[in-house]
Amino acid sequence: MGRPTGFIEIQRRGQPARPPLERIHDWSEAHPRLGEDELAEQGARCMDCGVPWCHTGVLISGMASGCPINNLIPEWNDLVYRGQWREASIRLHRTNNFPEFTGRVCPAPCEGSCTVGLNGDPVTIKTIEQEIADRAWEEGWITPNPPLTRTGKRVAVIGSGPAGLSAADQLNRAGHLVTVFERAGRIGGLLMYGIPNMKLDKDVVSRRVRLMEEEGVEFRTAVTVGADIAVDELQAEYDAVVLATGATVARDLAVPGRELGGIHLAMSYLRGNTRRLLDGGADAEAPIDAAGKDVIVIGGGDTGTDCVGTAIRQGAKSVRQLELLGRPPLQRAPNNPWPEWPKVYKLDYGQEEAEALWGEDPRRYSTTTRRFIGRKEHVTGIEISDLSWQTGPDGKVAMREVPGTAQVLPADLVLLALGFLGPEPVLLKAFECELDPRGNVRTDADKMTTVPGVFAAGDCSRGQSLVVWAIKEGRAAAEGVDRYLSRS
Ligand SMILES: Cc1cc2nc3c(=O)[nH]c(=O)nc-3n(C[C@H](O)[C@H](O)[C@H](O)COP(=O)(O)OP(=O)(O)OC[C@H]3O[C@@H](n4cnc5c(N)ncnc54)[C@H](O)[C@@H]3O)c2cc1C
Ligand code: SF4
Repeated sequence: MGRPTGFIEIQRRGQPARPPLERIHDWSEAHPRLGEDELAEQGARCMDCGVPWCHTGVLISGMASGCPINNLIPEWNDLVYRGQWREASIRLHRTNNFPEFTGRVCPAPCEGSCTVGLNGDPVTIKTIEQEIADRAWEEGWITPNPPLTRTGKRVAVIGSGPAGLSAADQLNRAGHLVTVFERAGRIGGLLMYGIPNMKLDKDVVSRRVRLMEEEGVEFRTAVTVGADIAVDELQAEYDAVVLATGATVARDLAVPGRELGGIHLAMSYLRGNTRRLLDGGADAEAPIDAAGKDVIVIGGGDTGTDCVGTAIRQGAKSVRQLELLGRPPLQRAPNNPWPEWPKVYKLDYGQEEAEALWGEDPRRYSTTTRRFIGRKEHVTGIEISDLSWQTGPDGKVAMREVPGTAQVLPADLVLLALGFLGPEPVLLKAFECELDPRGNVRTDADKMTTVPGVFAAGDCSRGQSLVVWAIKEGRAAAEGVDRYLSRS
């Protein structure tokens, strides 16, 4: 702990952002970096408390509290305060394979459980993490570091999202020969084709993939396992398999009018847009364009926010976002104490941009969709009504439509961002893996599925989650594979 009184003397400086009305004209990252001196000061706010919850990574009330990959946060905060950035980078990479991703996109459960946040503003952990990672790349401290010896064992990783990448990275470091199979044309999973450019520049992803290639990981794109390569062929060729195929089955909205044109799943929209930016639209999936349209995004989560930010950059006439749940409180509710994840109202980048353009937060809370209205087989409006949330005598909260509140909003484009139901079943059936009651791949403590030698990590085994959890799961699966291979 460099400066014992830092948390008293220095105010939190959060992640800076480019002005909303400037950044909506491009697809560059919304957040510029804080300067080195400023971040060293922010690092000094860490009080190196005796029980640092920030790196515990446990689930409390179903939500992450502390860093899921147990980043050694107080240690690198102190190193940054002392100007020892290279040591900080070494410490950070010890627990996190890809801090340049999490430093940009992680919702930072670490900050929600920071002890300084008990009665003040938490340490700027995520921003410091990004700076350590970015500096390490710029200074040339991150160079290919292939294993000195190889075990001769071959591992196939299916899926190249953060779970597949972290599993591949760890297994390669352990000396195994790793091949990553990806059905898309580019490596990265949702890092590439889900999270938009303004949150995560795609060069940041490709840079890491190139490094892993130089270290010996083989990447095979445009290969769908189960179609282009049979499952038994793969199992015969490799000593172990890691399934990291994500939770890609989207939740739909079965209300009258769903069949009308102009109503799309959020992922089709976001993927098409990123492909257009990367390939100039030369892709089979025609990009959906919001230019000049009244856009309704159904779903108030992160995917919905990404749709809002994307529609604004495409030049939408208006954007509204509908959310079933009520508006969260401004401060922690009494039943949501520290160090739980704070369930409080926040204006994310997309809503901030909409507010700058049209004067208000585009989100409408406690709202349900009754039907879609159309003309000539295309959507023209959406009928909604208000909901009230009431706690019944059994203590369960139930929603009810409020009579007389139905109204129609104009809509030329509707984007469904309602979350994901689980992994696609076809490949899992081919592997004959058992599923858990939620439809995710069942695994044991080593992340092995019910099929010996077949492991699973990330959203396909955990359900739709976060990049940081996917990294954690990939690391855990790699450990399990390593143990399995050392026995076989
Ligand atoms: C729009 C959006 C925004 C998000 N924003 C954030 C955010 O800001 N912060 C955050 O922490 N999390 C965010 N998330 C969640 C996060 O992206 C996921 O939790 C994470 O990417 C899951 O990683 P994964 O490796 O398990 O799966 P994925 O990233 O989904 O990767 C799975 C990969 O497997 C491939 N695949 C599937 N089947 C096959 C097959 N048969 N053969 C070959 N390849 C196959 C797929 O093509 C895909 O590339 C977001 C999610 C979405 C949808
Ligand atoms: S990975 Fe996420 S939770 Fe962990 S230190 Fe970084 S921002 Fe915090």
